[in-house]
Amino acid sequence: MIASRALVLPLVAAITFAVGVSSAQAEPAQPDTSATLARIRDAALKDDWAFQRLADLTDKIGPRLSGSPQAEAAVAQVAAALNVAGLKVTLQPVKVPHWVRGEERGELVEYAGRPAGITQKVQLTALGGSAATPAKGLTLPVLVVHSFAELDARAAEAKGKIVLISVPFNQLLADNGRSGEAYGQAGEPRFRGPAALAKVGAAAALVRSVGGADFRIPHTGATVWDENGSKIPAAAVTAEDALLIERLNAQGPVTMKLTLTPQTLPDADSHNVLGDLVGSEKPDEVVIVSGHLDSWDLATGAIDDGAGVASAMGAVRLLKSLGLQPRRTIRAVAWMNEENGTRGGKAYFEANKNTLSNQFAAIESDSGAGRPLGLLAHITKDSMPLVAPLQKVLGPIGATAFELRDNPIGADISPLQRAGVPGFEPLLDTRSYFNYHHTPADTLDKVDPENIRRQVALLASLAYLLADLPEPLPRLPVNAKDDD
Ligand SMILES: [Zn+2]
Repeated sequence: MIASRALVLPLVAAITFAVGVSSAQAEPAQPDTSATLARIRDAALKDDWAFQRLADLTDKIGPRLSGSPQAEAAVAQVAAALNVAGLKVTLQPVKVPHWVRGEERGELVEYAGRPAGITQKVQLTALGGSAATPAKGLTLPVLVVHSFAELDARAAEAKGKIVLISVPFNQLLADNGRSGEAYGQAGEPRFRGPAALAKVGAAAALVRSVGGADFRIPHTGATVWDENGSKIPAAAVTAEDALLIERLNAQGPVTMKLTLTPQTLPDADSHNVLGDLVGSEKPDEVVIVSGHLDSWDLATGAIDDGAGVASAMGAVRLLKSLGLQPRRTIRAVAWMNEENGTRGGKAYFEANKNTLSNQFAAIESDSGAGRPLGLLAHITKDSMPLVAPLQKVLGPIGATAFELRDNPIGADISPLQRAGVPGFEPLLDTRSYFNYHHTPADTLDKVDPENIRRQVALLASLAYLLADLPEPLPRLPVNAKDDD
């Protein structure tokens, strides 16, 4: 043990998160564990089972929005695959929202300098949960604002208009490896703009598409409505068309004809799919390794989150195929409804909230199919030495950046983390993720099979290490006010 600590500590010391690492509270992995982890990694790098499942999901089923027949076909497909892989499969019931896209058209019908008979078509797509316009559409003046502060200042002007909130995506930030931050900033108008516009009496909400795509494709996603507020038609226009509207608007009033006919149907029955590799000593204690099975409806959800769910399934199946059985159970989970409700994660939490001590740790992969760089961990600082042996194992694939996070990571496993369960997520290269995410271009060809092999190597070795730890993993402080 002393010898293996000596091996581990220089690695830990070399990385930025590892402030104040105390080896007193953590027993690093035994040498034979390191050999097993290396064996797992090497096997993953030769295995395309996960990529083949991703191809099945995207090419044979396609888009998988909650409540759709495709989402149910995906449940059946992955349950069958996990069953064939020899895992113990359970379908966990989840009631999901059922929103269906309709027609969506935008046209600029009045603007300064418009030649007689000429209109300009605008490329747009409804946001998930959008209300509908009348079937014949709305024809109204457009107000353009660039921030919530400007919206506040011009709230009176917004009444009865189609309002575009145009905030650009900071691609430089994304190029510098901070795409999540860029998404958070540019996404704010999408997340809460439509509700704010409904409140001031706007007739419809438009946002500039989030992300770095520059092929005039729209970016959909969920928007958050006030529980007691009204809903209005809400759509994302492409970045190019937001700029067109801004240019014309600078020359005089612009009028748009907007038609959106989505429907919100009654909640539908669906499922999380669970596949267990049952533990040898503590079968009731569970390490979750997961991704989400549902996707937006514009494309086939290859990077969001087919790659994550296929890699998670592939990780557990790989361990099974190698004949490995760690102390605790490793549970592959294909979550339903991450995109527009996270009902799957909430249902799992509800089903397990009285026996949370059995939820040992949770991993979710939901950041695409980029090259793995390392892992993110929402765990106590004292836990870091327990996972440090992985850095050496993941060195050959360049995935040695281990970063500690203060907040829950992974939407579906966040309720578990708020209740004390340690959480993990692969740290992936996401510099180009938001070029495709939630757009019609999120398709299988964007995925490099080598990156899926590497992601499986990371997930499988991390899950095995956690599930076979001799000691418990320290729990996170419980955030009682945030347990939804
Ligand atoms: Zn996702």
